[in-house]
Amino acid sequence: MTVQSPKSVAAIDLEDQVLAHNYAPLGVVLAQGQGSWVTDIDGNRYLDCLAAYSALNFGHRPPALIAAATDQLGRLTLTSRAFHHNLLGPFAARLAALVGLDMVLPMNTGAEAVESALKIVRAWGYRVRGVPADQANIVVAGNNFHGRTISIVSFSDDPQARADFGPYTPGFTVVDYVDANAINQAINQNTVAVLLEPVQGEAGVIVPPDGYLGEVRQITEEHGVLLIVDEIQSGLGRTGAITECARLGVTPDLMLLGKALGGGIMPLSAVVGRREVMEVLRPGEHGSTFGGNPLAAAIGLAVLDLLEQGEILANARELGVRLSQDLSALIGHGVTAVRTVGLWAGVDVDPSLGTGREVCELLARHGVLAKETHGATLRLAPPLNMTPEELGFLVTQFHKVLSILQTDR
Ligand code: PLP
Repeated sequence: MTVQSPKSVAAIDLEDQVLAHNYAPLGVVLAQGQGSWVTDIDGNRYLDCLAAYSALNFGHRPPALIAAATDQLGRLTLTSRAFHHNLLGPFAARLAALVGLDMVLPMNTGAEAVESALKIVRAWGYRVRGVPADQANIVVAGNNFHGRTISIVSFSDDPQARADFGPYTPGFTVVDYVDANAINQAINQNTVAVLLEPVQGEAGVIVPPDGYLGEVRQITEEHGVLLIVDEIQSGLGRTGAITECARLGVTPDLMLLGKALGGGIMPLSAVVGRREVMEVLRPGEHGSTFGGNPLAAAIGLAVLDLLEQGEILANARELGVRLSQDLSALIGHGVTAVRTVGLWAGVDVDPSLGTGREVCELLARHGVLAKETHGATLRLAPPLNMTPEELGFLVTQFHKVLSILQTDR
């Protein structure tokens, strides 16, 4: 069991003094990472079961991605989009093909991809659908998490994300998640799109019934409005498929990817969409200095190689079954509910045992890094290439921590 050293206390104190307090990190100070493991400044090792909110789907410093990045560092790192470069076309073509869509808008962070999609569907509404100027409306789901910009928090219903950040961007209607009928009723003549996460990660890994997304697709088609699916956390292997849309056999009009697309090395996100929709953007209307830069594109291409090889997806599916079984066995022993899809789990801990934060602190002291979402709910999203032994370690330590909490109660 690890204890905080004076060195790590000093490092945490320094951060506390000089960094904005927009996060409340766990008390570990990491200095190295390899595969599924990270090491702190005192040499203690931890199994990383957060994987940077699924940005590290391939683990820390995966050799193939480090090799691609290192090679590209010796060639060309940034051009801006003022010029073409030799990797952007091949990257975009392969990414679009992989998810069954046509065109790509490369950005950097997830929130930027979401913002970009909002602009695209609004422009499509005015230019293609003939929605009156400034009247476009987008239907979103309750309990969503799509990022932290002003427009995105404008349609969040999480007071922590929203309070004191108004005035808010208009043009959004929030309906209950997993209620396709509510979406149907919310759509009116000014609706241009529906925006959804296929699994709500931040909300606690909320997995809708398999038919839900297909039903929403049908409703949007019937009304002639666009479907934007935010796969920033769920995509690129997390659910055991290339995307959750692919697993469910649903093709959206726009798909948002991010996090793991940059292999945990570079921020790289993308709006991938149908040609008729993406083509509404004209030169000068949208952009990003770093979006689609050569270094990110080189890493992105290597990420696509890893995904196309398929072993990582097979591992996520196989170990996901075990994760689900092993965690479900803890129900009644400190756990009240478990939701899983692929190698991704939301675990509700009995609130009488402690807050999610307290459970995560104790897990860290037992060599496992995880993060609470809300209340006593933990999200587990380990690297998709973890070994069965590493999964065994996670479950054993989790069990141990629950037993300690139950004894202390
Ligand atoms: N969309 C979803 C579904 C997310 O989970 C996140 C981040 O957690 C984002 C968007 C925002 O991504 P970023 O933090 O890269 O801006």
